Amino acid sequence: MKFLYADWLLTCNNEFTIIQNGAIAFEETILDIGTIDDFRNKYANEDIEYLGKNSVIMPGLINTHVHLEFSANKTTLQYGNFVKWLFSVIEHREEVIEKATKELIDSELKKMIANGTTTIGAISSYGFDLDSCVQSALNVVYFTEILGSKPDMIDTLFVDFQEKLKSAISQSSKKFLPAIAIHSPYSTHPFLIREVLKIAKESNMPVSAHFQESKAENDWLNYSHGEFESFFKNMLDQKTSLTKPNDFLDQFKNIDNLSFTHCVEANKKELQQIKELGATITHCPNSNRLLNNTLLNISYLNDIPLAMGTDGLSSNNTLNMFEEIKNAFFMHTNLDTNQLATKLLTAATQGGAKALGLNTGILSKGFDADIISFNLPDKCNNKDDLATAIILHTTQTKRTYIKGTDELNK
Ligand SMILES: [Zn+2]
Repeated sequence: MKFLYADWLLTCNNEFTIIQNGAIAFEETILDIGTIDDFRNKYANEDIEYLGKNSVIMPGLINTHVHLEFSANKTTLQYGNFVKWLFSVIEHREEVIEKATKELIDSELKKMIANGTTTIGAISSYGFDLDSCVQSALNVVYFTEILGSKPDMIDTLFVDFQEKLKSAISQSSKKFLPAIAIHSPYSTHPFLIREVLKIAKESNMPVSAHFQESKAENDWLNYSHGEFESFFKNMLDQKTSLTKPNDFLDQFKNIDNLSFTHCVEANKKELQQIKELGATITHCPNSNRLLNNTLLNISYLNDIPLAMGTDGLSSNNTLNMFEEIKNAFFMHTNLDTNQLATKLLTAATQGGAKALGLNTGILSKGFDADIISFNLPDKCNNKDDLATAIILHTTQTKRTYIKGTDELNK
C-alpha cells in the first residue's frame, strides 16, 4: 500500500471537497482518504510520504476526445474556417497520417502522462494508433470510428469498421477498453449509424459522436444550405442532408456512456434531447477557436454533464490538458473565476470518467488510483482560490499514478 500527503487534496467529487493537509492510501484502487492527522493515528506504523511545500494531490486528468492519428500536423492544415479546414484535411490527409509514425504517437502519449493526463478517449479513424494505445501506460477508451455517406460504399465501410472493431476488442484489458464513435450526423449514413449503435448496445460499449460543431453543419443539417452545400455537391454529388439533428440524436437512446463533442451550435431543443439521453458534452475550446467556431455557452447547458478534450493536433497545438483548461478559463469571461475553475477541473476529471464509463476521476475510496501531484509556486491562502491557482500555474506534474503506479518516475 502507498501513502501520500500534500498541503492540498482535491477530491473533484460533486461537492468539490478540498482537504487541507490531505492524505491518501492506495494500491490499484484508492483505499482511504483523510487528513494527515487522521492518517497518523490510523496508520501509526506506516511511512506516509510528504510531497513538499505547496503540494497538491488531485485526480488524473481525462482527455475525453483526441485524434492521435493526426498528431503529425503542425503547420500543414488551414485554420480560421471550419469548411476550409475540412478541405485542407482532405487534401493533406495522406501525408499527415503517414508522418504520424508509431514513435511520434508514442512520444505524444508520454508527454500526456508528464502533463497529468491519466486517461484518454482516443478516436481512431484508421486503426493506425492501435499499437501505441495498447502499449501505453495510459487508460485508453479506444473509439473505432465509422464515417461515410455514399450509398454505394456503405457495405464496404461497414465490413471495414467491423474488422477494425474486432482488432480493438481482441486487445481489451484493464487499461484498454473498446468503444464506438460515429463521426458526425453530416458525414455518416443513417444505415451505418443504426448498425453500429446496435453493436454498441449489444456489447454495452461507450459511444461518442461529433455534433453541431460549426455553423456550416447546422445550416446543412437543418436547411441543406450554407457553406456545406457546395462541399457535398462537388465531393459527393449530394444535394440534401441525410438527417435532421433531432432524428440523429433520437437514435442514441439506451446507451449508458454517451458523449457528444463540441455541440457549440446546438439549440435549446437539441440540448434538451442530449440531457434526456443522459449524455455528456465534451468541450474542446482550442479546436473551436482555431476553426473559428462558436465558443460553447457553458451557462446554457443547464444540467448536462461536461467533459474536456484537446481534439487532435489537427486542430490544436498541444495535447496538454492543463493548457486546454487554462485557455477555456480565459475564454469563458461570463463566469466568475473560481466558479469556472471548479467547473473546468470537475469536467476534466469526473466529467470525463462519466463520458467514458470509468471508475475514476474522483479521489474517493474504491475509485481507481489515477492520481497526479505537483507543487504550486507559492502558498495559497484561501481554499476557494485553489482551483484557479492550479489552472494558472500548472502545466506538468511531478507524479502521475495510473492504477496505482507512478508512470512518470518508473
Ligand atoms: Zn474531434
